[in-house]
Amino acid sequence: MRVGNLEARPGEHRFGYLEVAKGRSGLSPDIPVHLFAGAEPGPTLLVQGAIHGGEIIGSIAILNLVQKLDPSRMRGNVIAVPVVNRIGFELGERGVRADGKDISRLFPGKARGSISDQIAYRYFHEVIVQANVKVDFHAGARTAYERYVLFGAEDDPQNPTELELKRRKLVVAFGLDQAAFFPPNTFGNNSAKEAVEGAGVVQITLELGGGTGWVKNGAENVAVAERGIWNVMKSMRIIDGDFEADGPLCTVYNAGVVIWKPDVDGLFIRQRAFGEHVKAGEVYGTLVDPYTGDLRAQLLNTKDAIVIPSGQEWPTIGATSVGILGQIDRIEDRRTMDLYVSF
Ligand SMILES: [Zn+2]
Repeated sequence: MRVGNLEARPGEHRFGYLEVAKGRSGLSPDIPVHLFAGAEPGPTLLVQGAIHGGEIIGSIAILNLVQKLDPSRMRGNVIAVPVVNRIGFELGERGVRADGKDISRLFPGKARGSISDQIAYRYFHEVIVQANVKVDFHAGARTAYERYVLFGAEDDPQNPTELELKRRKLVVAFGLDQAAFFPPNTFGNNSAKEAVEGAGVVQITLELGGGTGWVKNGAENVAVAERGIWNVMKSMRIIDGDFEADGPLCTVYNAGVVIWKPDVDGLFIRQRAFGEHVKAGEVYGTLVDPYTGDLRAQLLNTKDAIVIPSGQEWPTIGATSVGILGQIDRIEDRRTMDLYVSF
């Protein structure tokens, strides 16, 4: 298999950088890529970290994975990218400072756009379209603690497409006890997701770790991330082995209760914890003057729901969401669900 100038033959592991754009900042945006070409043919898994530069739990898990993965025992291929947004990663920032854009929203990218458009274009056409499954790791960075598999809303849940059925299995196979989807257009348009799925790629996103859990639970989250990648490889039959999970059940939330910050700036103080049930009309948090502590606004919850991410969010300047809560959509049972996907 081949990505840019990098080529791996069956049974080989090769490492190199995919040239994506020429920067003027002195920081190279070229993307580190590990290719593991299985000894036998099979599907291709893409695992990627740090498309948001400060969210590195997945990156560490991927570095652990590449030390262990043995392509001579694999059916199919693994493309492992520890860091997609290299400029953001080196600066500890979510986006790309050179143009202020978020690569994850830009697929399929533009060959002659700004630097982020070019990165998205090359990465999409050289890497993403080669994958059958894409596992994209995010985290709460410094602002929140998170622990769920995120996936796209289905157009007609009673009548899921073939891609959506595979995605349901991968969401559960990953091994976490909770998963969530956002109703369409919760956070603006979904054009990047549509571009990826339009290319036939089944994608799941991990929101895992970060916030106050960064130090305390960092190692555990890295282990959970790595366990999830091995589970996905088993689901795709790239390797053999039993699934390992938090437990038999995976609760799937409709994360449709978003608390938006009012049109006043300040320090947001969350008063509700991860996993807590909050009734409609109850206080979710307060917004205070960051220098005097005076109350500026009280934020009320809008519908009975459970807090999905947790932590304290800063900065909270301008229009942003400060809370995501979910209502239970369904509970999947690993003991009875077929967790294998074929391509
Ligand atoms: Zn992210």
